[in-house]
Amino acid sequence: MEPSETTIFDKILSKEIPSDVVYEDELCLAFRDIAPQAPVHVLVIPKRKDGLSQLSKADARHKELLGHLLFVAQHVAKSEGLAEGFRIVINDGKHGCQAVYHLHLHVLGGRQLTWPPG
Ligand code: 5GP
Repeated sequence: MEPSETTIFDKILSKEIPSDVVYEDELCLAFRDIAPQAPVHVLVIPKRKDGLSQLSKADARHKELLGHLLFVAQHVAKSEGLAEGFRIVINDGKHGCQAVYHLHLHVLGGRQLTWPPG
């Protein structure tokens, strides 16, 4: 899929499409992935995409938001009980297997994950 202006995540943000929200603040929304790859699989997305269709589009303006998203991701991991560890993933572009072009962090955990990823 090619980068596009609007994505399915806009519909989730507008509540047009329901989602299982686990955390929300003024800057971001965290909700369960519809096709979980682990017992816990949460997506953390910025509410305002602000040009951030993918991480590689980031510029200096986005530094604070990126830090916030990472902070929220570890907060979600803790609140989901992932005391044994977890993984944060950001897929970027074609080689990164990015499907939805609205920046998102995957929070994965609840089982032993393997390395390297595929
Ligand atoms: P990507 O491959 O872009 O990093 O990941 C996109 C993620 O969004 C996938 O894990 C996919 O399962 C998830 N996803 C796609 N559509 C929906 C949806 O409508 N609702 C939810 N909750 N997750 C979705």
